[in-house]
Amino acid sequence: MKTFRKNFVRYTDAGLPILYVDTFEGDKAKKIIRELCKEHRRGVIEWSLAGAFDFTDGQNIALPKTDLASTLRLLIDDDNLDNKTLILQDAHFSLDKPETISALKVVAQGITGGNYDCTLCIISPLVPLPKELENYTTILELDPLTEKNIEEIVNDFIKTQGIDPPEKDLLNKIITRLKGLSQTEIYNILSLAVSEDGMLTSRDLSNILEQKQQIVRKSGILEMVRVKETMNDIGGLENLKDWLRRKAEIFKQIKKAQDFGVDIPKGVLIAGMPGCGKSLTAKAAAKAFDVPLLRLDMGRLMGKYVGESEGNMRRAIKITEASSPCVLWIDELEKAFAGIGGNGGGSEVTTRLFGNFLTWMQEKDSLAFVVATANKINALPPELLRKGRFDETFYVDLPTRTERKKILEIHIRKRRPQDLSRIDFDKLADKTGGYCGADLEGVVREAIESAFFHKKPAITTDDIIEAIKNTHSLSEVMKDSIDGMKKIYENLKLKSASN
Ligand code: ADP
Repeated sequence: MKTFRKNFVRYTDAGLPILYVDTFEGDKAKKIIRELCKEHRRGVIEWSLAGAFDFTDGQNIALPKTDLASTLRLLIDDDNLDNKTLILQDAHFSLDKPETISALKVVAQGITGGNYDCTLCIISPLVPLPKELENYTTILELDPLTEKNIEEIVNDFIKTQGIDPPEKDLLNKIITRLKGLSQTEIYNILSLAVSEDGMLTSRDLSNILEQKQQIVRKSGILEMVRVKETMNDIGGLENLKDWLRRKAEIFKQIKKAQDFGVDIPKGVLIAGMPGCGKSLTAKAAAKAFDVPLLRLDMGRLMGKYVGESEGNMRRAIKITEASSPCVLWIDELEKAFAGIGGNGGGSEVTTRLFGNFLTWMQEKDSLAFVVATANKINALPPELLRKGRFDETFYVDLPTRTERKKILEIHIRKRRPQDLSRIDFDKLADKTGGYCGADLEGVVREAIESAFFHKKPAITTDDIIEAIKNTHSLSEVMKDSIDGMKKIYENLKLKSASN
């Protein structure tokens, strides 16, 4: 997959004025761009804080060492921009300066106006783009390393460090664990791994995982969630649980499944009533898949600067891929996509953000399984519900009578298993119609606390009935919106999570 090269040539040919290569691996990007310019007989001028050089026609002429704005003005004055690609490496340090913005804009306008055939190529880790440049700028990313690339890097590392190569099996495991990381990150992690004992051992696999977790934490957009919950903690939702168990089996033996022709599981959208176990299911899924759970905080992702949210989304995707195999839990998905298709700046950002996300979902072939949860499905764009994005969309309704019995039992078993035989679950189920899972948990908690307060030796059915009387159920509190939601789900004919 040489998407970066292909896109770079395509965008240059189309005369797009500013290409922003969002990367921490500037030297690698520069090398590729130089090669492409050579192939296409295009002159290259490079500017960085270290100086400016004109490499056109194989020469190497040092230009006066000065700031970016002055260099650009000089090139305009000298009429030295035609058939050129300008590689700008430290531009992000001065992208908040009016003189830099203005000079870049003048050149960009010259390009779109047809004054010269030139491309401004900014290579930097993405910073918020000045609004004035947004319309001129297209963002590009380097291609992720393939397993073969990673293998080469690891072998190169082993050779240059002069260490013993690990067994083939271990080497393969190390390579899989390093997927999604950049060359520099791989080198850093490997250096750290061999620093203690001078070799690569199976112990280093957990070091690699730890380093990946560091990257997640540093991002500030994703959170690593510790999971205790299992499928047995979920009362009801049998269809959804069965479906997830099956995907978990595939996930755990993915190589075999793929060889057989099975598709890699992409993800599931779980929509429905609040407090009915959607988040609980996301956590239990990670446990069933036996992989880490990453939670994407949509609130934190939505930045206030132009391009910031998209940059964050790309970064979140990158980190998720780097952490794979994993489950990515996108909580309250509808919040991110509120305002899609509408007018105004905010919705434009959301629409683009949404586009990035959809493309990723569509093309994803990594072992990152997405569990998206949403309370309001009507706030989601229809494209998201279309087949091919998620493997399946489930609707979680208020628990049925049998499910209520199960949920009550789970929460009593967790806290007072010794009282279970005393409880008349049928009676409780009859009295809790319209209660959601969280309500039922609340009732159990309340009954236990009250029994303790009144110095009773155990809890009884009556204690729980008393707590039920004191609780307003979800359907009482949100009657109208629940009816409305039910209609929408029925119209969309979504698969029910319960059987
Ligand atoms: P949602 O994400 O659907 O709004 P949650 O999964 O956060 O709801 O539910 C809140 C809490 O209510 C859970 O942590 C759990 O203790 C309890 N709960 C909800 N649904 C169930 C269920 N089906 N089985 C067991 N407990 C449940």
